[in-house]
Amino acid sequence: MPLAPDAIVRLNLGRLWLSYLKMQIPVHGFLIKHPDGAGLVDTGYGTPLELIKDYRPVNASVADALARHDIHPSDIRWVINSHLHFDHCGQNAVFPQAPEYLQHREWENRQQYETPAAWLEYAGARFELLDGDAEVVPGVRVVTTPGHTIGHHSIEIETTDGPALIAGDACWTVEMFEGKPPQGPMMDDMPAALRSLQRLREVKPTAVHFCHDKRTWMHKTAL
Ligand SMILES: [Zn+2]
Repeated sequence: MPLAPDAIVRLNLGRLWLSYLKMQIPVHGFLIKHPDGAGLVDTGYGTPLELIKDYRPVNASVADALARHDIHPSDIRWVINSHLHFDHCGQNAVFPQAPEYLQHREWENRQQYETPAAWLEYAGARFELLDGDAEVVPGVRVVTTPGHTIGHHSIEIETTDGPALIAGDACWTVEMFEGKPPQGPMMDDMPAALRSLQRLREVKPTAVHFCHDKRTWMHKTAL
């Protein structure tokens, strides 16, 4: 049963300053209002904020963001992390009851990242490690999109309008989805990243949601 397009709800999880780009970017997670129970894609960055102070983070509680949609953290049945950079998995510990889905390769690579170990390796963490594409709950699949990191995946959601994507960091902006080349230092493996972008376009999505762009790319029906 496909979901309504508005079952994908963007959560504002703060802002980060990228000094090498001299740019502030928003950080988003996504609430998925699934008929079998609510789920979450990415959990933002965690606390204490001093751990990532070079990025000038502002307070951003995922529990507060969910409360604006009348959801309590204990309502969340599952979490998907697109990858394990600190701004995508920092508040996993808020959801001890929920399994966290990510790629096996990403888990094995986690020590390469700046992510504080305490944000991942807390008591009771329940990771479900995947090897490739997988359906997490009916109508919600992960599709592997390596490049930004080795074990990155994006999320494809079946909606009544057609497939919708949550790109994760496989694609940051509307312009990038439409063809603007990604900036080099942000991709661990550029050829893989370009193949992954192409893979996302081949889904022929009706909507693409971004973790670092306030806009949503929408398919424009030809007139
Ligand atoms: Zn990110």
